[in-house]
Amino acid sequence: MFCTACGFEMKAGDRFCASCGRGEPEQAAPREQTPRPPMARAMREKKIAGVCAGIARHFGWDVTLVRVAFLFGIVLKGFGLLAYIIGWIAMPRDDERQAVEVR
Ligand SMILES: [Zn+2]
Repeated sequence: MFCTACGFEMKAGDRFCASCGRGEPEQAAPREQTPRPPMARAMREKKIAGVCAGIARHFGWDVTLVRVAFLFGIVLKGFGLLAYIIGWIAMPRDDERQAVEVR
């Protein structure tokens, strides 16, 4: 890099020009990332409680995608709960099977 004042070639890492003593040319400030909006329920875009819209806004996702994902999750969770109850009823307790099990 060269001194902007006198054109003297500066060594890499030199903070000041060895010829004229001027400080190194101002470097562009590191680009700041746009801060993400806070994870908050979006009151203006809300359908139920604004949770989906808030998540979508926070991550920059599509609100519709988040809503679909949420619905999907609820459906799956409902199925999981049903399967759990069925298993609860249908599956034997393992402490009652202990007698026949080989240890
Ligand atoms: Zn200089």
